[in-house]
Amino acid sequence: MKSTFALAVHGGAGTISRDQMTPEKEQAYHAALRQVLEAGHDVLRQGGAALDAVEAAVRLLEDSPLFNAGRGAVFTHDGRHEMDAAIMDGRDRSAGAVAGVRNLQNPISVARMVMDKSDHVLLAWPGAEEFAREHNLPTQPDEYFFTQHRHDQLQEALESGGIHLDHSESKKAPPKKMGTVGAVARDQHGNLAAATSTGGMTNKRYSRIGDSPIIGAGTFADNRTCAISCTGSGEYFMRAVAAYDVACLMEYRGLSLAEACRIVVHDKLEPVGGEGGLIAVDGAGNLALPFNSSGMYRGTITSDSPIFTAIYEDK
Ligand code: ASP
Repeated sequence: MKSTFALAVHGGAGTISRDQMTPEKEQAYHAALRQVLEAGHDVLRQGGAALDAVEAAVRLLEDSPLFNAGRGAVFTHDGRHEMDAAIMDGRDRSAGAVAGVRNLQNPISVARMVMDKSDHVLLAWPGAEEFAREHNLPTQPDEYFFTQHRHDQLQEALESGGIHLDHSESKKAPPKKMGTVGAVARDQHGNLAAATSTGGMTNKRYSRIGDSPIIGAGTFADNRTCAISCTGSGEYFMRAVAAYDVACLMEYRGLSLAEACRIVVHDKLEPVGGEGGLIAVDGAGNLALPFNSSGMYRGTITSDSPIFTAIYEDK
């Protein structure tokens, strides 16, 4: 179905077990996703740019402690928060990204600033923080990023010695849930954009960086094909160059968005252990939200259809 404008968001994919989910928690996730979709919808309905819509959506997701990005970012091995983010404009494939940044309130807006105000695509660690300060982007003390839930996850991970994807809730079952947030949009002018932001993996060390800030791996946008934001086991998404592979299947094999996404998520990532999913939009405003995990926090809104939010697989 063609839509004048379309927006999809995600709040991470993974093994989201129903028995760990309370009705209150489920309700809170749906409400947060709705709020984010409404904000992005406001931008798109008024004729705003896809780029502004995805930035606005991801900023809100970063501000929510429910998701593994910005305020709710997971802890590193050293008990800190190191965040990655990327944004890409489908009009000209301009892009900006930051990796391993600490204390920045909204990494996605720093990524946007890298795109708009520097000659570079990817800045990392203290240099990226210095760039953010020079552009007066807000920082926050360590306490801002503290959530008890994430802290407990780190203690579990330290005990077991594992590096965990987000949303570990059970000591018995190996934690497999993933976090990360993202948004993709097509605006009324036919332009596409994608944005992704994450705290990465609980107990990560050695300045580990995932797929989210890597253009083509976790984030990609090109008006000629699609805009993509991924979530899942980042190392696999990097090796698969997952986001760009969807665009390639469309460009070189002439596949539809849905078919290209299916191949990448189910035929390429899944067999090698790449768990997770992605959200995607094409030039006609078609949306696809495939995942090979048991759930993915996700939602959509278009010019023709109301808000839809979901966590588990559609019945
Ligand atoms: N893809 C992210 C990373 O590997 C994690 C996630 O999606 O939860 O950093």
